[in-house]
Amino acid sequence: MNGQMAIYPGSFDPMTNGHLDILRRGLAVFGHVRIAVAFNKNKPSGMFTPPERVDMLSDVTAEFAERVSVDSFHGLLVDYCRKLGAGTIIRGLRAVADFEYEFQMAMMNRHLAPDLETVFLMADEAHFYTSSGLVKEVVMLGGDVSGLVPAVVERELIAKASAS
Ligand code: ADP
Repeated sequence: MNGQMAIYPGSFDPMTNGHLDILRRGLAVFGHVRIAVAFNKNKPSGMFTPPERVDMLSDVTAEFAERVSVDSFHGLLVDYCRKLGAGTIIRGLRAVADFEYEFQMAMMNRHLAPDLETVFLMADEAHFYTSSGLVKEVVMLGGDVSGLVPAVVERELIAKASAS
């Protein structure tokens, strides 16, 4: 493990056990991981607001509190990383489907900030098919997502589903 801080950006709408798996792997490599919820001020989207996502992430990652921080940002990821003096971005890879999008994003970020490195980590295969999008769909249709998301997230998902 080196002492550097890495940024783990994403929508996290909401966080899943796949995200948590990537975070754990990130902590084996980096001294500090900052989870950064990306949002667009001008075009709000998603099931959970950015503060709700941050709250769930903070709750679930409380056990790693000294080495994990949670934040949200608006604007370019490269600007956010520069502001914090962070040199590494962590992204997770599932099956081949993620590759093209992730590759494009990494290349664009390299174009914008050549000194910033993107590091890809692979979750355990148990999480290969877990995505925030699918989890939300299943819950809205009354399905059981226990084991795919942390318990606190499951509760919040069920609350949103029953309120809609
Ligand atoms: P984004 O909208 O930026 O893709 P997500 O919250 O969906 O945000 O994902 C954030 C990062 O976590 C991405 O790199 C994504 O590939 C990764 N990720 C999400 N779910 C999983 C999973 N089940 N296994 C591995 N990586 C994952």
